[in-house]
Amino acid sequence: MLNLTNVQIVYDNTIEAVREASLSVGKGSIVALLGSNGAGKSTTLKGICGVLYPEDGEIKGGQIIFEGRPLAGLPPDEIVRTGAVMVPEGRRLFDQLTVEENLVMGGYTRSRADAKRQIDMVYSLFPRLVNKRTTVSGYLSGGEQQMVAIGRALMSAPKLLMLDEPTLGLAPQITEEIFEIVARLCRQDGMGILLVEQNAQMALAIADYGYIMENGRVVLDGPADKMLRNE
Ligand code: ADP
Ligand code: ADP
Repeated sequence: MLNLTNVQIVYDNTIEAVREASLSVGKGSIVALLGSNGAGKSTTLKGICGVLYPEDGEIKGGQIIFEGRPLAGLPPDEIVRTGAVMVPEGRRLFDQLTVEENLVMGGYTRSRADAKRQIDMVYSLFPRLVNKRTTVSGYLSGGEQQMVAIGRALMSAPKLLMLDEPTLGLAPQITEEIFEIVARLCRQDGMGILLVEQNAQMALAIADYGYIMENGRVVLDGPADKMLRNE
């Protein structure tokens, strides 16, 4: 469903954050995008979602095709409507808004009735959030905030969910819970998942396929189980 071919992204016309990124995510598959800090993973996700700052980060080359349609140049809200949605690193919730209000914000592409149904779907996926629906999100634990952030992204019923370091700073127990839900979205709903993680072991354990970036380039890729064995 998603194909990147030789994507190049430059900041300030000088910093080549992404030099050569080629990768694919198929329907119903979990793809891990791995690599050390500064490798270009976040920038790649931002490029796909059209959220590079204007006049700062710029796609200089290559192709980003989602469901047969080029994404580069489309505004971010248009990209959300195509079904490609990102949960940014650091969650970025509206801290003063309640859990439910945050979810509502993610449903802006939908009718009221659809949004209502989608909110119920999110609560069924994250039972922990049910009795927190009127809690101000700034008061939630890190893990709960991550669940709200993922739930908010799911409000637009995406076909492709991109997660930027979703488990950063979270306890192993919560990480496991979140990964289980992500795997379920993929296996049950056929959602494509692009998972950016620094913890390669953990990510490859739930992924089907992996890519490793280094200095802005995809330097290695392969089936996740094979990558796990070789590490
Ligand atoms: P990763 O997600 O793999 O840690 P990033 O995509 O965040 O890597 O960063 C890739 C490179 O681009 C790094 O050298 C980083 O410092 C640089 N970079 C990221 N964002 C910006 C920005 N807004 N302006 C300039 N350079 C940036
Ligand atoms: P992210 O991985 O989302 O880029 P970071 O913590 O690396 O998060 O960066 C925080 C903010 O600073 C982001 O908006 C990012 O684009 C920007 N940034 C990252 N590296 C640089 C850099 N070298 N120069 C300027 N801005 C940067």
